[in-house]
Amino acid sequence: MLPAQQIDAVKAQTNIVRVIAERVSLRKSGASFVGLCPFHDEHTPSFHVTPGTGRAHCFGCQWDGDVFAYLQAAEKLSFPEAVRKVAALTGIALDNLPAPEAERLREENQLERRRAEAYCHAERKLLLELADELDWLRKLHRKADECITAGQKQELAWASLEFVAHQLPRTDAAYVIVAHS
Ligand SMILES: [Zn+2]
Repeated sequence: MLPAQQIDAVKAQTNIVRVIAERVSLRKSGASFVGLCPFHDEHTPSFHVTPGTGRAHCFGCQWDGDVFAYLQAAEKLSFPEAVRKVAALTGIALDNLPAPEAERLREENQLERRRAEAYCHAERKLLLELADELDWLRKLHRKADECITAGQKQELAWASLEFVAHQLPRTDAAYVIVAHS
């Protein structure tokens, strides 16, 4: 994929007349150049190429397009091929981004990756801590089942609920652990 800015830059620096004149003989007429249309058979020139707008238009067959569309139609090129051809004609280097821009993108990617790694590490640590806490709670409940009365059990249940309530911001992670244990 060619970046849109590069495509625009190529177009802005291209004289459409120069490109079309390679195959169509053109003569100046006012602000445009006219010649025989390459897209339909004619004896009177109705193909107008206007450098000011960067477009060509045929008043005979109504073909209309910019320099890229012209090359696609006249030389059966794909769009990227047409852009590359025009870039070659105008001497614009397409394949490499300007060095500072490439460097900036590379640094941004690295920073992003480091952030993601740190986040993953923190998440994992939290999950392990929560797993320990839940394990402790489960043991406590088992112990309670063995040795306490119904009233005490209810008290313990409330205490557990309170404990969980304090962990509320972390409950999503807890659900994950509970679901997988
Ligand atoms: Zn035509």
